[in-house]
Amino acid sequence: MGCIFCKIVEKEQKADIVYEDDKIIAFKNIRPLAPVHLLVIPKKHIESVKEISGEDIDLIGHLWVKMKDIAKENDLKGYKVAVNVGKEGGQEIFHLHYHLLGGWKSKKDRDIPNMP
Ligand code: 5GP
Ligand code: ZN
Repeated sequence: MGCIFCKIVEKEQKADIVYEDDKIIAFKNIRPLAPVHLLVIPKKHIESVKEISGEDIDLIGHLWVKMKDIAKENDLKGYKVAVNVGKEGGQEIFHLHYHLLGGWKSKKDRDIPNMP
């Protein structure tokens, strides 16, 4: 109900989508913390890592396989994948999402001090 990422999935909310298939979608973060900062999400509304169940195993496996391809398509040789879990873990949007971060030019830039 009122989930912003579900609205992006349903195309009711604008987003810069870089990949989409029947199970997942990837789009640019509106407030990037790295030169490339994508959010990779299942289309299914799962609140957080804590709500992933056994029936989601294929979906989550699919997401990881595609996330690797998405990274490659965005010219990322190396990158970070970050997941905030729960309010106490810094999660602000309660629709499961993987932060895919990369594109740094130097080691110093690679630190992400602003990651919530
Ligand atoms: P969290 O803290 O929940 O792990 O991260 C949520 C992320 O979603 C934040 O980095 C925030 O910038 C991003 N975000 C929030 N609302 C929107 C939106 O409407 N569109 C896009 N593209 N990103 C959003
Ligand atoms: Zn949702």
